[in-house]
Amino acid sequence: MSKPLYGLVEAGGTKFVLGVARGPDEIVATTRIATTTPAETIPAMCDWLAGHGPLAAVGVATFGPVEVDRCAPLWGHILATPKAGWSNTDLVGPLVARLGCPVGLDTDVTAAALAEYRWGAGQGQPAVLYFTIGTGIGGGAVIGGNPLAGVSHPEMGHMRPLLHPADVASGFAGVCPFHGTCLEGLASGPAVLARYGLSLSDLPQDHEGHAVIASYIAHAVVTAQAMFEPGRIVLGGGVMATPGLIERVRAEAETLGNGYFRGKASEIVVLPGLGDRSGLLGALALAEAALS
Ligand code: ZN
Repeated sequence: MSKPLYGLVEAGGTKFVLGVARGPDEIVATTRIATTTPAETIPAMCDWLAGHGPLAAVGVATFGPVEVDRCAPLWGHILATPKAGWSNTDLVGPLVARLGCPVGLDTDVTAAALAEYRWGAGQGQPAVLYFTIGTGIGGGAVIGGNPLAGVSHPEMGHMRPLLHPADVASGFAGVCPFHGTCLEGLASGPAVLARYGLSLSDLPQDHEGHAVIASYIAHAVVTAQAMFEPGRIVLGGGVMATPGLIERVRAEAETLGNGYFRGKASEIVVLPGLGDRSGLLGALALAEAALS
């Protein structure tokens, strides 16, 4: 009997990555379409997947905020988002209507945590966290194999780290429209640009920006350790591609933790084991779960 064929959707703010796969090592086809308006992008997504079916199930790993509670009336809808035109957009309904198969959905970061737990850097770990540090900052967790959610999905990018003395001195107000100096407001790609005019990878290695950003990510690491003692904290996203950053984060987290936590930052803080495939394989994990 051949393995089921799954549809994969990694819905991002600038592009949707689509795929069909029978397993993590059997990705049959992929494509990407621009995230323009829901009226354009959603039919294009449905058309491409329908053209590669029949599909046993579809997994959707999406930007948020999104309703992840299957029992809620707005399950599968993008909620209030600054992304123009996308608030209250139904991602799941059109897929179900067009493809007639089960759909699983979660945030891109929770899906990535699930993929890293299943097939990547978090295999065998009782608790795995995934943070993306990029245009925005988000975090997801898989505890005992299950995605963590409360009344909504976690919003780990909006925790408040202790302000770095350099930001206190400059009075940097942060870039989060809701909180100013939350983690996303301080350490996302736009926050780096707002302070220094360059991306972190374009700043000289001796620029203080490296220590400032590493400090904030390290605060997120030790906060996550205090909450969950995860066996792996996976750090993905464009900012993490900066040479030397993960080493700085590990060292700073060790200093902040002061030897207290069971997990050693030098061992548990890792780059994605699945590279840039965490998101799409997260969609695969969600699709498999939707079928089971
Ligand atoms: Zn915020």
